[in-house]
Amino acid sequence: MQHSTQRIKIAVQKKGRLTEHSIDLLERCGLKVTKSKDQLICYGENMPIDLLLVRDDDIPGLVSDDVCDLGIVGLNVVEEKRLQLEQDGSSGQFKQIFELQFGHCRLSIAAPDGLEYRGPESLENTKIATSYVGLLRNYLTNNNIHAEPVYFSGAVEIAPKLGRADFICDLVSSGGTLAANGLREVEVLLQSEAVVIQTLEPLGSEKQALVDKIIQRLDGVLKVNDSKYIMLHAPRSALAEIRALLPGAEAPTVMPLEGAGDRVAIHAVCRENVFWETLENLKAAGASSLLVLPVEKMLA
Ligand code: ATP
Ligand code: ZN
Repeated sequence: MQHSTQRIKIAVQKKGRLTEHSIDLLERCGLKVTKSKDQLICYGENMPIDLLLVRDDDIPGLVSDDVCDLGIVGLNVVEEKRLQLEQDGSSGQFKQIFELQFGHCRLSIAAPDGLEYRGPESLENTKIATSYVGLLRNYLTNNNIHAEPVYFSGAVEIAPKLGRADFICDLVSSGGTLAANGLREVEVLLQSEAVVIQTLEPLGSEKQALVDKIIQRLDGVLKVNDSKYIMLHAPRSALAEIRALLPGAEAPTVMPLEGAGDRVAIHAVCRENVFWETLENLKAAGASSLLVLPVEKMLA
């Protein structure tokens, strides 16, 4: 397909668990969009980027068909679609380009509380209810298990009670929903999080440069999540010990303190959160006047 316009289209979930986080991340990358709840498209006001708001299940298809250049969607949906496309004889027309570190969940097999489970062999000759037939079949084949996937489009967890299946295969995050339905997790098939996918269709250098910029900004946004700027005073002789205590810090800045003899000021960016325990250890190593500040933006 020819790209007539130089604007980038990103497919984002319209209403669901991924929506708020996806849009928030893009906004933290500097994108301003016109927002209207019932819109299909949010237009970027300050960058040539528009958001297409759709059901998450449609996102890999829209990217693969080149209707959208990028998509933000759970790896579970991406992998299921990839297997479907493979089965239909077409290779997935999208590639995964970035992991977004939110929307964490796992695709797992769960068993009713009363049922004994002795490992994958307990699945032999059973029925398993799922919305993820492709991923489930893949798991069964790889483990040489003969079981029958039963397709449920939603409310998979009630299938055993209805007598429609022996097990279920569904997304789990805390396990609370499973427990509330008298089920327990027995096998993990896939660890999932939200990812960015891109069409395999070449974008042209201008659009690709913008995609690269967005990804670099996303990387910066995620890096600062836990990053802290730490400032402290310490004797120069304790420098080595203090450096070793700073979590995920690169070379710190060391500055003399006027009229304080051997004591210096040390500033560093820590790529990990700084906990009270770290501060107490720093103090024990001779540090004083400790200050920890949040980092708003970072460009490596
Ligand atoms: P849509 O109407 O867009 O089809 P949906 O009901 O399929 O929405 P949501 O429940 O909003 O989807 O979930 C979207 C994604 O959130 C999932 O595909 C998964 O990647 C992620 N997710 C994270 N935790 C969970 C969880 N506990 N249960 C289900 N999905 C989760
Ligand atoms: Zn969905």
